[in-house]
Amino acid sequence: MPRDTGIADRLRAKGLNVVEVNGWRTRGSDTFNPRGSVDHHTAGPRKGNAPSLGICVNGRTGLPGPLCNVLVGRDGTCYVVAAGRANHAGTGGWGGLTGNASVFGVERENVGDGSEPWTLQQYDVAARVHAALVSAHGGRADLVCEHKEWAPRRKVDAYGVDGNVMRQLVRDRLTGPSPAPTPANALQAIHAAAKGRPTLKEGSSGPWVKDLQAGLNAVVGRPVVPVTGRFDGTTARWVRQFQKDRTIPPTGVVGTTTWEQLIAARLVLGK
Ligand SMILES: [Zn+2]
Repeated sequence: MPRDTGIADRLRAKGLNVVEVNGWRTRGSDTFNPRGSVDHHTAGPRKGNAPSLGICVNGRTGLPGPLCNVLVGRDGTCYVVAAGRANHAGTGGWGGLTGNASVFGVERENVGDGSEPWTLQQYDVAARVHAALVSAHGGRADLVCEHKEWAPRRKVDAYGVDGNVMRQLVRDRLTGPSPAPTPANALQAIHAAAKGRPTLKEGSSGPWVKDLQAGLNAVVGRPVVPVTGRFDGTTARWVRQFQKDRTIPPTGVVGTTTWEQLIAARLVLGK
């Protein structure tokens, strides 16, 4: 299959803000038969919306560009870099796919060391991008993966992102018969729900602490915290673990971002 020059239109059809980088239609090898899509973080500079754009287009020493098909800026803008095969995944594989010819590459601007938490909006945009990419090539959410799933021994990106959560979000954003898409406003609903909850920390008590403790147990998958309604040291320790796993600064204090991630995780788990 030749290069995929429909990328920009499909991204726009998913409601995304698109910038077509000059020359993208002929950039990247035309030996390209993508069926899946790999999610990356850039590990680029902390400042700016898309400071890694030049590297993504031109490559770096020892690795010629393009280094992705789409670069997503911090504000969700999608820079379409290449219609052809890009150098991004390397050795590894996912779902029977191997080689860069088999997968799109999506780079997402983030320092990638856990100090820059992904927002729910960034999850939403990423899922729409992957859905738009694979939609013309079989439309299989199960062939979307994190780079750390493609190459578990070599890679950590996208840092803190759970591939199962990403695939569920992609599934919801693919047009198709099943499963039914979640409401378009699900993320806003999560955000609103989180904003309506109190900030909790060690020493807090009451029904929201019970909800927190039940949520932690649901996410961990076993009863690690007694559901007492009292925010004790054990609860704080598991809150910090949850925060670390989600690249939220591990303060042990449950504010809006931690609530959002907990609500989202429970929605995905259905409990
Ligand atoms: Zn990567």
